Amino acid sequence: MIRMTGVDKFFGPLHVLKGINLEVPQGQVVVVLGPSGSGKSTLCRTINRLESIDKGTIEVDGKPLPAEGKELARLRADVGMVFQSFNLFAHKSIVDNVMLAPMKVRRTPAGQARSTAMELLERVGIASQADKFPAQLSGGQQQRAAIARALAMRPKVMLFDEPTSALDPEMVNEVLDVMTTLAKEGMTMLVVTHEMGFARRAADRVVFMADGEIVEDTSPEAFFTAPTSNRAKDFLGKIL
Ligand code: ATP
Ligand code: MG
Repeated sequence: MIRMTGVDKFFGPLHVLKGINLEVPQGQVVVVLGPSGSGKSTLCRTINRLESIDKGTIEVDGKPLPAEGKELARLRADVGMVFQSFNLFAHKSIVDNVMLAPMKVRRTPAGQARSTAMELLERVGIASQADKFPAQLSGGQQQRAAIARALAMRPKVMLFDEPTSALDPEMVNEVLDVMTTLAKEGMTMLVVTHEMGFARRAADRVVFMADGEIVEDTSPEAFFTAPTSNRAKDFLGKIL
């Protein structure tokens, strides 16, 4: 579903992705771990072309990433992304936030967009908040709304970049539970997170990055019990 081959990315002189080879097959959940600055967010952002790449290829669903125009808009519609900051439109209700992209990008009629939005809000457990504005919701509820908004486009892949890092601890699980359910339903997911419980429970594979490189790409079981690289051992020593 996602295939990155020999991908390099520079920010000026800074080499932030170094020869990245990564595959996320359909239905798999891949968790990306690694120290701060190792390139995890940049990796995520290249997949829907929020960042360009300097070398290599990225394919989504068997097609190379388009550079611009209608093709790029179509790609972005197929790749849902959820960030640390929820990025909801502050002046729109929750249900309007979820309806917006399907109406604009997919030309879904309002009535249909609304009923789909309500189903999704039901699924993430916040249907009762539909008519409120983002600021009236807790962080965990806002993040679940952001997930519903991404799902409204019926994406083929979901990218998550530290979706729970900005949340108060008591709200982390309500968001992880939604993500775990999605994973079980067979959504293809690439998840950058520091939540090791989620990685153990929901990941098919763990990818460990350090200094712009993929250092390990293995099962959660193998990664947590027998990491092979010193950098992964170091990392686990600090966080576990
Ligand atoms: P964190 O765990 O802190 O989120 P990360 O693994 O997501 O870190 P990235 O955000 O991908 O790391 O950053 C990788 C490197 O690229 C860092 O050295 C960062 O400072 C640099 N970087 C990221 N975005 C830019 C940018 N727009 N311009 C210049 N340098 C950048
Ligand atoms: Mg990051």
